[in-house]
Amino acid sequence: MLRFVLLGTGSSDLYPSPWCGCDFCAHARESDERNWRNFSCALLYPDVLIDCPPDLPHSALKANVELYKVRHLLVTHSHHDHFSTDPLLLRRSVLWAQKTLHKDVLPLPDLPPLTVYGNAKVNERCKSFLKEVGSKYDLRIEVQKLKPFEPVKLDERTKAHPIKAQHCRDEEAFLFVLERDNFAIFYATDTGWLSEETFDYLRQFSIDLVVADATFGLAPSTDEHMNLEQIKELRERLLCEGILKEDGKFVATHFSPHWTPKHNLLTKVLEEQNIIAGYDGLWLVLA
Ligand SMILES: [Zn+2]
Ligand SMILES: [Zn+2]
Ligand SMILES: [Zn+2]
Repeated sequence: MLRFVLLGTGSSDLYPSPWCGCDFCAHARESDERNWRNFSCALLYPDVLIDCPPDLPHSALKANVELYKVRHLLVTHSHHDHFSTDPLLLRRSVLWAQKTLHKDVLPLPDLPPLTVYGNAKVNERCKSFLKEVGSKYDLRIEVQKLKPFEPVKLDERTKAHPIKAQHCRDEEAFLFVLERDNFAIFYATDTGWLSEETFDYLRQFSIDLVVADATFGLAPSTDEHMNLEQIKELRERLLCEGILKEDGKFVATHFSPHWTPKHNLLTKVLEEQNIIAGYDGLWLVLA
């Protein structure tokens, strides 16, 4: 059995946007928890994290997951809603406490080393952050560069495949297929409609769970993000080509507030297409 947790499901605006006066944002501000979305990120429980947005510590606490169990951090790209080094700095006091506090007073579980995997820009930013704090603290973090379509073995049970996204022009953005035991998960944000090269690569998998970019909701899609209409088409194509299993789950994420209706309406629109409307703290179980 695998568990995959959506820690955040909002776009780069957050949901609602604190800076926006549109109806969707205004209603969401007055509304219940599922209408509040943090920046998008997810966890293959308990040890493989995808993306490290600035609000990750809050999202993790809200979803009741323990970040000290994370061994691998896969970063899709460097945009502000996907990668910040600030959450990594919180490791500092734990490591310091482990060294200095008497174990009889407060036994602390070991904080394992963490490997951060990403493109050249993420690598560079992470390395300069480690250099900056390195004179004072060893955060036990290593950095590894990814190349599209070159899988990395994370452990005996787990392989990560970096897939080319259709997203930004100034850096290489990745989507990920995670294989663990007999399961495969496709995490696909941020991206516009996938290239034929990507579909070709995906044909080797029989996927149990897809989590896909539906940023623009009811509005037209762009070449950097999809909308509700396109994820419907994506699900149909993946099913049709046998890439997504017949009983595979398909979940939408990365919602922008100004174009995506509130959660209960979104759920109604999507369930007719057999798509689950993602929300923060959603635990998806594969068995
Ligand atoms: Zn994003
Ligand atoms: Zn982005
Ligand atoms: Zn708005």
